[in-house]
Amino acid sequence: MLIRESVPLAPHTTIGLGGPARYFCEIRTEEDVREALALARERNLPLQILGGGSNVVFADAGFPGLVAKMSIGEMAFEPGRGNAVEMTAGAGVDWDEVVAAAVECGLSGIECLSGIPGTVGGTPIQNVGAYGQEIADTLIEVDCLDRAGMMRVTFDREACRFGYRTSRFKKADRDRYVVFAVRLRLRRDVRPVLRYPELAAAVGRRGGIEQGDPPAAVRLVRETVRELRKAKSMLLDPSDPNTRSVGSFFMNPVIPERAFRELVNGWHASGGRGDPPGYPDGGNVKVPAAWLVENAGFGKGYRRGGVGTSSHHALALVNYGGTTGELLALAQDIERLVLERFGIRLEREAVVIPG
Ligand SMILES: Cc1cc2nc3c(=O)[nH]c(=O)nc-3n(C[C@H](O)[C@H](O)[C@H](O)COP(=O)(O)OP(=O)(O)OC[C@H]3O[C@@H](n4cnc5c(N)ncnc54)[C@H](O)[C@@H]3O)c2cc1C
Repeated sequence: MLIRESVPLAPHTTIGLGGPARYFCEIRTEEDVREALALARERNLPLQILGGGSNVVFADAGFPGLVAKMSIGEMAFEPGRGNAVEMTAGAGVDWDEVVAAAVECGLSGIECLSGIPGTVGGTPIQNVGAYGQEIADTLIEVDCLDRAGMMRVTFDREACRFGYRTSRFKKADRDRYVVFAVRLRLRRDVRPVLRYPELAAAVGRRGGIEQGDPPAAVRLVRETVRELRKAKSMLLDPSDPNTRSVGSFFMNPVIPERAFRELVNGWHASGGRGDPPGYPDGGNVKVPAAWLVENAGFGKGYRRGGVGTSSHHALALVNYGGTTGELLALAQDIERLVLERFGIRLEREAVVIPG
């Protein structure tokens, strides 16, 4: 395994920010992971696992240890029980290639997750989700190496402790496990379920999922999702400067109903028009963070120095040629003003490294 020195990290991220890694290597096998971990321990260096770099922001100073980029490839489909098909993919496989392959085979279960950047190994970390689907819906298990004892472990769905944009890998056990592979259960000959009104309406405009056979319906949903994402600059596109981001920088806050009523009352008392949006979420209310960010004074296309918000989505903080310092200063100001104005503490979805 080749270990390189002083490797710029910005090109390994979608937001294009961050200084160099002191050391950098590519992981293609389990043996490579063990070797990288042993080297880091020997030299007393921190080790950071990197996937597709679509949810990370590295410091301007870079990373003072070894960055190990996951490139474990391969993907396989095996028949399961009934109409189930089990798909196993290595951590380094591009996620959207997996979705494309599944859709090509007429398999349903992950079509709404089309167009999410990054690797397979990154998907369980924050339980990626979009348009009414999340990886937890189809995940069977995750194969990992426990960095603490250098032991292989397999977590089933329950053991991953998935939640909204979170899991044990993101919170309690951050950086403890290296994901090697993910196993999903997909379905053959089953029409997709459309839980997200915006997607259902867009699919309806294109003829609906009842037309044609189930594989055609799965293809239609993938195409529609990609189209919707492109319109919001949520599909990576080198010609679209809005996509130099990590997607949503903040999570949508989920607050008690009482707090939501206070938000509505406070908004009206301050002369706000209409009602703040809120969606029922298991006895609580999910408030779109984009609404909070925009109404705290950071509308779509807001610019400050070399950073700002996407002109299509206020929740995506964009690097327009700035620095991590500028981006984090903007994020802090947004957090402060949302708290002052609405009494809601925003939580970051993006991973800032070093944390
Ligand atoms: C334009 C755009 C749109 C996006 N849209 C969505 C969306 O709709 N829904 C959504 O959920 N996310 C979205 N994201 C965020 C991001 O794409 C996902 O979170 C993705 O799964 C991150 O995967 P990655 O491989 O790029 O991980 P990285 O960004 O490389 O890493 C993220 C974290 O995961 C850890 N990690 C990555 N791989 C491994 C591994 N093999 N083992 C252990 N730890 C690992 C890293 O250490 C880091 O802590 C979007 C991002 C962009 C840029």
